[in-house]
Amino acid sequence: MKKITILGSTGSIGRNTLAIVKKHPDLFKIIGLIANKNVSIMLQQCECFSPDWVGMSDKKSADILRITLKEKKIKTQVLSGSKEICALASLEENDCIVSAIVGMAGLLPTLSAIYAGKTILLANKESLITCGDIFMRALSSNQAKIIPIDSEHNAIFQVLPPLLQNNLGKANLKKNGIKSIVLTGSGGPLYHLKKEDLPFVTPEQTCNHPNWSMGDKISVDSSTMMNKGLEYAEARWLFNASENEIDILVHPQSVIHSMVEYIDGSVLAQLSLPDMKVAISYAMAFPKRVLSGADFLNLKKFKCLNFFEPDFIQFPCLKLAIDAFSSGQSAMTVLNAANEISVSAFLNSRIRFNKIAEINSDILTSSSFPKPKSVEEIVEIDKKTRIKTEKKILSSSY
Ligand code: NDP
Repeated sequence: MKKITILGSTGSIGRNTLAIVKKHPDLFKIIGLIANKNVSIMLQQCECFSPDWVGMSDKKSADILRITLKEKKIKTQVLSGSKEICALASLEENDCIVSAIVGMAGLLPTLSAIYAGKTILLANKESLITCGDIFMRALSSNQAKIIPIDSEHNAIFQVLPPLLQNNLGKANLKKNGIKSIVLTGSGGPLYHLKKEDLPFVTPEQTCNHPNWSMGDKISVDSSTMMNKGLEYAEARWLFNASENEIDILVHPQSVIHSMVEYIDGSVLAQLSLPDMKVAISYAMAFPKRVLSGADFLNLKKFKCLNFFEPDFIQFPCLKLAIDAFSSGQSAMTVLNAANEISVSAFLNSRIRFNKIAEINSDILTSSSFPKPKSVEEIVEIDKKTRIKTEKKILSSSY
């Protein structure tokens, strides 16, 4: 029986994870659930899974939930505050943590679980890419393990030899027979639009992905292709890949979730319907496999599978992220913070879609920080960049 705490249980990844737990009560037990303010979904999750602990970052929401649980005679304890949530992530009872809080807010609880030597099932790419080297070194020095949930990285993980699976971020790809890693991406919901149409795209359009059902932030990132850029950075860290060892392909059908090219000419890929339950269940049950609840892939239904080069002009955020990764950790942390703020402004109809890339680029090129040596320095860069980006949004036209 694996004991699990979910960071971000009320979100898209969190709810998919709980659907798998519900299917396999003999294999998985929920110890803790953590979210921000969604009291109604958290209440349903408490009723269904009886966790020992719940953490709500928002104090008011924690208070409301505590009272409601008491009225319903549910014994789950409710905590609030950053320190308490980090403590829940590192509880001794936890075998693994599903890291699925959206954005930089997931960093400290994820690190806390790493320091406690837990197995991290990682969806929250932002925590890895904002902290890169510090994150990977913390994994190693605390004997913590990581299994990626992000579908592309999970696909790559699935077709890696066991020696690499057990040494993520450390082993040399070439020495283990790997020529390159091919990240695939659907291109997002706006892939077929013309550049001149992009300023008029609405938040609803960006959140209406043709293949995947995801939270709002990652849906917008998918539309700008920033998501693929963040995944590029995630793959460089997770698989210890050099610039020449990663390729990106647009694959609109989202059937092949990524590939590994070996030096003998073989290419191994993982295929499935685009349903996150496949990747999540694989990470949860590893090294076994269990029924995920996803439908099975019927290749006869697909007339063809297409692959294209990404268009860096139509989707400047992808190139921004690749360049930020090459520039160093502080640039990546800055870009992530600027992007979180600009995406949120777009979702709240404060800026147009095309401004996301423009603002991200301006903030990235006008910021310069020395290489951060600690998590505290990372958090400081993030904080300063958020303030600067907010100011930029306030002063720029819609
Ligand atoms: P959602 O927006 O659906 O869910 C976000 C979750 O994070 C919610 O549970 C939310 O709680 C919680 N949260 C937000 N802020 C805080 C905070 N300050 N403290 C505690 N909890 C917080 O996001 P997704 O599930 O789509 O994505 C989660 C992560 O997984 C992202 O990093 C994303 O990039 C990654 N990912 C997602 C995929 C997907 O298919 N959805 C695929 C691959 C990666 P509340 O509901 O209370 O606000």
